Amino acid sequence: MRARFIHMAFLGLQIVAHALYGAPAFAAANEQARVMPAAPGSQMQTEPVPVPEPTATAVKYHKGNMLLWGVGVILGIAVPTIILFSGFSARLRDFAQHLGHAWFWTISIYVCLFIVLLWAISLPLDFYQGFVREHSYGLSNQSFAKWAGDSIKSLLVSIAFGVALGWIPYLVLRVSPTRWWIVTSILAVPIFVFVTLIEPIWIAPLFNKFGAMKDKALEREILNLAERAGIEGSRVFEVNKSVDTKKINACVTGVFGTKRVVLWDTLIAKLDRDQVLFVMAHEMGHYVLGHIWKILAALCLLTPVTLYLVNRSARWIISMFKLQLGFQTLQDVASLPLFLLLLNLFSLLLVPFINAFSRHLEKQADTFALELTQNNHAAASAFVALGKDNLVHPRPGAIYRIWRASHPTLAERIEFCNNYAPWREGKPLRYGDRFRRSKRD
Ligand SMILES: [Zn+2]
Repeated sequence: MRARFIHMAFLGLQIVAHALYGAPAFAAANEQARVMPAAPGSQMQTEPVPVPEPTATAVKYHKGNMLLWGVGVILGIAVPTIILFSGFSARLRDFAQHLGHAWFWTISIYVCLFIVLLWAISLPLDFYQGFVREHSYGLSNQSFAKWAGDSIKSLLVSIAFGVALGWIPYLVLRVSPTRWWIVTSILAVPIFVFVTLIEPIWIAPLFNKFGAMKDKALEREILNLAERAGIEGSRVFEVNKSVDTKKINACVTGVFGTKRVVLWDTLIAKLDRDQVLFVMAHEMGHYVLGHIWKILAALCLLTPVTLYLVNRSARWIISMFKLQLGFQTLQDVASLPLFLLLLNLFSLLLVPFINAFSRHLEKQADTFALELTQNNHAAASAFVALGKDNLVHPRPGAIYRIWRASHPTLAERIEFCNNYAPWREGKPLRYGDRFRRSKRD
């Protein structure tokens, strides 16, 4: 959801958006989990938890998701192609030039109009996918006013990012037409960090309320867990996602002082204490193991590769089709849909690698959480709760696993949670040295 505004906001940030926001940090979550009975007293349940079979509704929801994803991929290629090859982009540039005169204003007006155009084209599908369909599957609590308000806010945030950042590669293209992709990649590094820094404090609160946790006893337990995980002065926020969705999730966002663990209020309402603590331990794993920085580093490596490919192919396309396109060089802002088209195409090649990297980090966070809580039953049953009655397919097919799965499948996670217990055999913990020493030390 929040992925969309940055997705549209500006080209280079597209992959950031995918990695940071397209992949909620815990997400197994397309679901309507029921409250699981709390673990009785201090008696820890130890029996393995079976992987649930998906319901017919879950299979239908999953298939529909795949179809809608396919439609989105096709539109992501078809829409910029039509805008480019019909000459519409060149006409939009002429109009922006007519209004703006100067170089900066021409670019800014073009970027605004282009973002509004993409927003309007995707509006019917967004409305169906984000509102109508979620309600028809009983997954949404959102009013139409909230949906519409969020959509407008996303558009405005996109425009703000577009105007703030859109001129940068065009300036670099003017100064260094052949090496622009290297310079832009270097300039992207502080921008990636900045976006990650401001997202939790300025952007996310535009859409939901972030407050202190209401359940103070649970908050204290989470803070104790954080202490044991070696996180000092951590902040836990409860976000009122129940106004939007019945789905449950949590995430860790931000860098430096804005780093925070966020629980959706729906998660607190639906999981028992031990399950919430496992989810929190998973999020703390991301935090302690520096996953945000690893994702940012991966993006900083991928950006020059992507922009190099974009540069080569864009030049070839312009040289072949300049008459149809109505522009002669990449420096012309009318090339913006060409950048979008090529980024969408290359992201199809890159996303499987980004997803594989993300799954690797998720497995690390699951390992960390199991070692910290040492409660296999709570962990596995948390995933069952996330998937039960819910519309998550525990064993999705190959296309999903390659292009869409930023997390291991639900079945893989439940099986891992059932089986991973080195502490029972007295074997060393993989992350044991990260944990705060216990009292006996
Ligand atoms: Zn995670």
